[in-house]
Amino acid sequence: MADLGGPPARAAGISEAEVQAAACQDPWRLVYDRFVPREEALREALCTTGNGYFATRGAAPESRADGIHYPGTYINGVFDRLTTQIAGQAVENESLVNLPNWLPLTFRVDGGPWFSADEAELLAYRQELDLRRGVLTRSLRYRDQSGRHTSLTQRRFASMDNPHLAALETIITAEDWSGRVDVRSGLDGEVANTGVARYRDLASRHLEAPELEEIDAATIGLRTCTGQSRILIALAARTRAHAAGTRRVVREGGQIAQVITACLAQGQSLVIDKTVSLYTSRDPAISEPGVEARRTLARTGGFRALLRAHTVRLGNLWERLRLSLAGDERVSFILNLHVFHLMQTISENTVDMDAGIPARGLHGEAYRGHVFWDELFVFPYLTLTLPELTRSLLRYRHRRLPEARRAARGAGYAGAMFPWQSGSDGREESQTLHLNPRSGRWVPDHSARQRHIGAAIAYNLWNYYQSTADLEFMSCYGAEVLLEIARFWASIARYDRPRDRYVIEGVIGPDEYHDAYPWASGPGIANNAYTNVMAVWVLCRALDLLSQLPAQRRTALQEELGLTQTEIDRWDHMSRHMYIPFHEDGIISQFEGYERLEEFDWDGYRNRYGNIQRLDRILEAESDTPNRYKASKQADVLMLFYLLSAEELHSVFTRLGYPWDPGAIPRTIDYYTRRTCHGSTLSQVVHSWVLARANRPGSWELFTRALDSDVADIQGGTTAEGIHLGAMAGTVDLAARGYTGIEPRGDVLWLNPCLPREAPALTLTIRYRRHWGISIRIADGRIQVTVPPSDAPPIIIGYQGKLTELSPGEAFGAPLPGRTLP
Ligand code: BGC
Repeated sequence: MADLGGPPARAAGISEAEVQAAACQDPWRLVYDRFVPREEALREALCTTGNGYFATRGAAPESRADGIHYPGTYINGVFDRLTTQIAGQAVENESLVNLPNWLPLTFRVDGGPWFSADEAELLAYRQELDLRRGVLTRSLRYRDQSGRHTSLTQRRFASMDNPHLAALETIITAEDWSGRVDVRSGLDGEVANTGVARYRDLASRHLEAPELEEIDAATIGLRTCTGQSRILIALAARTRAHAAGTRRVVREGGQIAQVITACLAQGQSLVIDKTVSLYTSRDPAISEPGVEARRTLARTGGFRALLRAHTVRLGNLWERLRLSLAGDERVSFILNLHVFHLMQTISENTVDMDAGIPARGLHGEAYRGHVFWDELFVFPYLTLTLPELTRSLLRYRHRRLPEARRAARGAGYAGAMFPWQSGSDGREESQTLHLNPRSGRWVPDHSARQRHIGAAIAYNLWNYYQSTADLEFMSCYGAEVLLEIARFWASIARYDRPRDRYVIEGVIGPDEYHDAYPWASGPGIANNAYTNVMAVWVLCRALDLLSQLPAQRRTALQEELGLTQTEIDRWDHMSRHMYIPFHEDGIISQFEGYERLEEFDWDGYRNRYGNIQRLDRILEAESDTPNRYKASKQADVLMLFYLLSAEELHSVFTRLGYPWDPGAIPRTIDYYTRRTCHGSTLSQVVHSWVLARANRPGSWELFTRALDSDVADIQGGTTAEGIHLGAMAGTVDLAARGYTGIEPRGDVLWLNPCLPREAPALTLTIRYRRHWGISIRIADGRIQVTVPPSDAPPIIIGYQGKLTELSPGEAFGAPLPGRTLP
């Protein structure tokens, strides 16, 4: 929910066979060997190249937004607001802005039509994304109307080395002709946010009319500004042709281009280098974006030099994110693709930015670039590989603490109430109405009641702290956020005297399909088990943290926050008396009253509709609602088993005085698995994770489905609007943490490996505490942990209940447990 409507009705993208074929060739390359216009939007998303600062969809350089192509360039954190009158209401949206297009480049022969792959008679076509080098290549041959044969090769990348630079190399070869070639290379400021069909009724022009300039003989510039947020954006583009020729500059509306004319003899090639620099007024250490864009370009070498620096930097990043799962080439390929897109969205280049983790990457406009709880699926793996990046991204939340405090106060609570959807300043960006494309009706959207977002933020902070022991960060930033979130939980919970328990009402759990009781008039449900358990978990961590902070900092924080001992005592009391609903047979209820809902006719609806992932829309169109049924969009109760180890859950339930029956876990998993339609790509990741030990074949099947989320576009059109970063990172994390059982807890790095049958070996490199490059290898019935030499203190490995101290330069090896598991 929280979205305006469904995926456009179009066929899903790359088929399993195609993925298989691509992977068999090379697990480091995404290859398409023909041009298929109806798949172009999906491929553009999957071939996005970025560097953690900006990213550009893999659109053809000659294309414009036209229903087949959608060139889009986005910088993390560049948002703008627009208001539209819709269904009699003023709807205000904040969106990640589609920036001026830096790609435009096309050519014509002897004054003929400008080249476009859509119009040309293509004789050969290949598009290839080299994941290891971060280079997108398109090579094609075509015959023109005069029967001439021309070949074209284009390579491009967004520099990992200098995040403000992008480069496009074009080679045009006159195979069997001689003649004049005009190359037009430009910048297009006439763009809007029109990438999502469902949003097209909404205002979309975020950029002011650009200023176009001729900087020098080879360089043009474009400056513009976002309408409401007043962010200045500047691009400079230098085009060099490796042949003598004439040049002129053309301007058309908000576009500027250089037209370079050269003559080619038969068999000759024309090489054109386009290098672009891109800055905004949000960038640190600059004078003015336009000035900086020119200065940077003036200091920048040609395509080859840039490419070399880019691949070195990216190669080093790959080294740090090394993960290999033996067995299935297709799985390795998709995992590589997922790590790649994670790096395109956030990388070392994001560290100095005020940026969050957009749920759909920088790959499209779905969810308007907003930041949700999906970061919960991204941080764990990031923390194990690039903890400095986690640290920086967590500050996105810290900077928005004042706004979260205001939101809590505005709703009558204390502490910090973080928004379900967050953008520039941290206010709530969720929709209040969304369009059901099946019924054409605008329906109320209550998804902002997902207060569990606060628990996710606290969890991410704590997880970072456990993995890094970075008490400095926690003292300066993390503690304030975590304590204020704890305070929020303490204030939203109400003490219910007859039960002698605290209750949390009027919220929504992760399963967005239940936003109200069918028998109630208002929105919200009571005592969502996930929310309540996580609230207890947060309160416990807040108490732990208070005892671990340096005394001086603790005293200062308590004073600044006005945190009294009475309040802390209440947290402790609440953490022992929160209400958790159970079914009669001991299964945790998703929320209070869940048992009273009707069973859903799964078979009947599957038969009738085929794909029932968007059950909310199907039922709403039938004037019904999922609120009436035991039918979930995504993992909800099961999130508990995903986030917390059995030991942690045991300790929470014991603290609360509830019986802890480990035997109820498989029954609970089974119960909800049968009642979930996986309407969110996050759901399969969670289900696969929680089944990884008890039902390995079932878990593997869900894992492969989660892997397909984007590459096979399993939601039938949503990937074209942006990748699902949570599912991408979640699948990588499932391999990295799930199969190794890595759990940094206290001062111990716990390991509990359990590989799927289909993947007999796994190798992983992690950062932990002050150690870089700890290698973990699980193969041939053994686990081996090797700590590289350094002067960092020893680490403690926890394995099968035993602790082993491991100094730098030492290795730990042991046989795998449970080799006889079915
Ligand atoms: C899911 C949410 C998720 C959001 C953004 C929704 O469909 O239900 O859990 O945060 O998408 O990915």
